[in-house]
Amino acid sequence: MAKTRLEVNISLDQPGKRTGDILMRWSNNARPLGVYLMPIACIVGKPGPTALLVAGIHGDEYEGPVVLSRLIDEIDPERIDGRLIILPAINNPAVLASQRTSPLDGCNLNRAFPGDPNGGPTDMLADFIVSVLLPEADLVIDLHAGGKASIFATAALATRSDDHDLMQANLQLARAFGAPFIWILGAFNDTRSLNAAALQASVPMIAAELGGGGGADPTQVSIAMLGVKRCLSHAGIISDALPEPVEPILVETRSSADNVYAPTSGLFDRHFSAGDKVKAGQLAGYIRPIERLEDVSVSFHFAVDGYVLAHGNRGYVARGDMLAMLVCDIDK
Ligand SMILES: [Zn+2]
Repeated sequence: MAKTRLEVNISLDQPGKRTGDILMRWSNNARPLGVYLMPIACIVGKPGPTALLVAGIHGDEYEGPVVLSRLIDEIDPERIDGRLIILPAINNPAVLASQRTSPLDGCNLNRAFPGDPNGGPTDMLADFIVSVLLPEADLVIDLHAGGKASIFATAALATRSDDHDLMQANLQLARAFGAPFIWILGAFNDTRSLNAAALQASVPMIAAELGGGGGADPTQVSIAMLGVKRCLSHAGIISDALPEPVEPILVETRSSADNVYAPTSGLFDRHFSAGDKVKAGQLAGYIRPIERLEDVSVSFHFAVDGYVLAHGNRGYVARGDMLAMLVCDIDK
């Protein structure tokens, strides 16, 4: 197997707290002989499990980077039993550009796993996570949000597995995170995601969706700070006294056809919010003409009973844009 071309300039083993970079050489017109730098922190305490904490896979989702930056500040290596490897902006070129995909090659990192050490920047990053970091990890937390394009209800995402122990470990992490929703990822999960790579490597993992809009909402940041700490406490890495998690609603995607997509282009006049419980036939909103006011507004409705896990956050939508992502109770 080819070896990663990326290098880390700090020790991931020595006790204490260190920050540094993952160095990626990618020779283009902008930076022919320089490197692209992905920030990394490593906090090593007494012997114990390793948690890999990731944010910024999508560059316009800033809640996770804020949470992990705060954690790097707060966590005292003297007070932990284990090791934290923290990547607050793993797709740093995208984070600096405030865009979902990499400005270096236009690719979506969460559709690039398991990656390729000899591929472009996005493939090299995915491969580095899979070949260098995942083998070190006893658990993974990957923080996402809706970015500029959408708003999610606060959710922990656990991948379904035929391996009973792994499934239980994923569920326990999701419960510990304490978001109001647990979204079970099954057949509809993309097999090129970090969740899929962790499943393949049999490493317990959750992702989280934390609102969205392209900034960092303080309520979502607080929920996620507490959520990550409860997961670390569940793993025995920290021993802080933390409030109990809420009782979650377990949901799953039944069919992409349950989602609502824009029937035409126009203003998105939305009549619901992320997290709402909705009924089949319920009015969801209107697409209103703005270019030709004499055109008629088009109403749209929910096709099924369920919960709105996410909604589009664009004021003007094109035909086919996601307006509402629908999930159903797991028991049904
Ligand atoms: Zn994301």
